Amino acid sequence: AARSADDLRSPICVILGHVDTGKTKLLDKIRQTNVQGGEAGGITQQIGATFFPMSAINEKTKKLRENLTKQVEYKLPGLLIIDTPGHESFSNLRSRGSSLCNIAVLVVDIMHGLEPQTIESLQLLKDRKTPFVVALNKIDRLFDWQVYPNYPVQESLKLQKKHVIKEFNDRVEKTMLAFSEQGLNSCLYYNNKNFSKYVSLIPTSAHTGEGVPDILHLLVELSQSRMTDSLMYLSEIECTVLEVKVIEGLGTTLDIILSNGILKEGDKIVVCGTNGPISTVVRALLTPQPMRELRVKGEYVKHKEVKAALGVKLVASDLENAIAGSRLMVIGPDDDEEEIMDAVMEDLTGLMENVEKKGVCVQASTLGSLEALLTFLKQMEIPVSGINIGPVHKKDIIRASIMLEKAKEYAQLLAFDVTIDKDAQELADQVGVKIFKADIIYHLFDSYKSYMAELAE
Ligand code: GDP
Ligand code: MG
Repeated sequence: AARSADDLRSPICVILGHVDTGKTKLLDKIRQTNVQGGEAGGITQQIGATFFPMSAINEKTKKLRENLTKQVEYKLPGLLIIDTPGHESFSNLRSRGSSLCNIAVLVVDIMHGLEPQTIESLQLLKDRKTPFVVALNKIDRLFDWQVYPNYPVQESLKLQKKHVIKEFNDRVEKTMLAFSEQGLNSCLYYNNKNFSKYVSLIPTSAHTGEGVPDILHLLVELSQSRMTDSLMYLSEIECTVLEVKVIEGLGTTLDIILSNGILKEGDKIVVCGTNGPISTVVRALLTPQPMRELRVKGEYVKHKEVKAALGVKLVASDLENAIAGSRLMVIGPDDDEEEIMDAVMEDLTGLMENVEKKGVCVQASTLGSLEALLTFLKQMEIPVSGINIGPVHKKDIIRASIMLEKAKEYAQLLAFDVTIDKDAQELADQVGVKIFKADIIYHLFDSYKSYMAELAE
């Protein structure tokens, strides 16, 4: 397909933020408010993603747009929102260092302000140069808040009492200050005159739906005005493995996000694996049944081909060692298979460059989270001597135990969002390899630091 500014694909959006800020609820609300009223409005549940066609977004933002002084024409086919909100999916939406996620929503609890994972998310967004907006969520928790379900937030604010507005302003003020401490200018989105200089804050409630139209509108507007170039269709496919899953009857499958191009049944593909590149053939491309209520467990719709942007389940053989976060590439008739295999493996081998003779061992669940963890450890000047992806097994402990002789203080394994084999834990205890396990990078770092301090005493 030729590139054209009139033929834009849907942008891919990820929701990030600290735990319990309301990421899941917000996504539920966006989905449900549209689905309610009988008609689903063409919203489709995909694998790892939900597609919101422009007709549904139009409907949802109608009231908001009626009051805009400047009308905006929606040109995009829709919005693809990644369903598993969080670091995990964001870190995995990558390709050669650039991001396949076009835009992000950073969720902040208005009652709590910026929290450790908010700051971690901010760092990821900055590193990837991903445009984002902030949802200042849980406004309904402001004392005495009157609920106006699904209202644009300014409409709802107009109807609130004076002391509510005062508390609201105070909290917004505080949040803006906290962002400036992180080196970012921010302001309420409707006061934002310069989107490239200021981060937009959108007050929302995932419970009442207030501010939800505002989020949708801003996501569309920002995507259209700032990303036209990256949203034009390319003939070359861009695709990322979001998760590797074993499904009864199907074997090991890949949940992928196709962010550009067309993928077909029978295509020859390559992905990165823990034991080297995996070359296989697409046996089936599946999405859930369109009507969620009728969905029978394990039943999918089969597609001969799929077009970006889309989340699909890919069935093929030999996927057991595939790595989440890997790029997926198609081998065309004129392509050099070896070259493509090397390119795909670069995502993993590239990370090996960070490995030194002396240092701790690190292990993460996906390529994306391993990458994020290594970047963080580098900033903290913690040397790394070994890396791996997936659950911690005995062999990983043996690798970490090499340090017992070389540099005892580094005989440690930092395990990020992975399980630890019982055998592995026993061996670690036996030989004296310390395992730190956490689901948040900061927690891992804190326990590592206090352990090192202890050792120094
Ligand atoms: P996540 O960890 O960021 O995905 O957060 P959840 O979506 O699971 O929400 C965490 C908790 O906050 C749940 O108990 C939600 O019901 C609650 N919550 C989320 N959004 C709102 C909101 O806008 N208002 C209020 N009052 N509670 C909320
Ligand atoms: Mg959640």
